Amino acid sequence: MKIICIGRNYAEHAKELKNTLPEKPVFFLKPETALLRRNRPFFYPDFSNDIHYEVELVVKISKVGLHIQEKFAHNYYDEIGLGIDFTARDLQTEQKKKGLPWEIAKAFDNSAPISPFISKKEFDDIQKLPFSLQINGKVVQDGTSADMIFSINKIISYVSQFVSLKIGDLIFTGTPAGVGPVKIGDQLTGFIKNKKMFSFEVK
Ligand code: MG
Repeated sequence: MKIICIGRNYAEHAKELKNTLPEKPVFFLKPETALLRRNRPFFYPDFSNDIHYEVELVVKISKVGLHIQEKFAHNYYDEIGLGIDFTARDLQTEQKKKGLPWEIAKAFDNSAPISPFISKKEFDDIQKLPFSLQINGKVVQDGTSADMIFSINKIISYVSQFVSLKIGDLIFTGTPAGVGPVKIGDQLTGFIKNKKMFSFEVK
């Protein structure tokens, strides 16, 4: 399986990182080794001094597809979860300056903690879904999928023009504003609506 991540999908977040708004979805990949499941702790890596959290809704692909039309994209996922797109912001800033790929800042081991997945049928409207992240009990990100620049269906359609989607692939759909650094000892707890999806420690 592969992990596809969308960048700059919320205007307020693009602004906080001083990025221009994209005209098309921006995406990058993380390998399977990035996954961190079952609330296992995240060990702060020694190659960075500025690891940032980015809470994101995550879509799990349920059907093989290529060149998916936007109007059919909803048939390609059944479940939704919540994850963190951990980013070594110091390394990413260096790479961006040089116009180089982001992998060292984005694709490292355990950079993609994820929650269990729940059926999308549990929600009335997947494009009006509030989600949030707390660190040590304090809300640091509070977003809604209504603010996505590119909808989930648009993302699935766009990505599948280039890359075949396979069952079990995950799409991280971008982060709202409020990203920031984590430190050792922090407890990260994520919610979709009022439902606690994950809670893990940075060690
Ligand atoms: Mg992200």
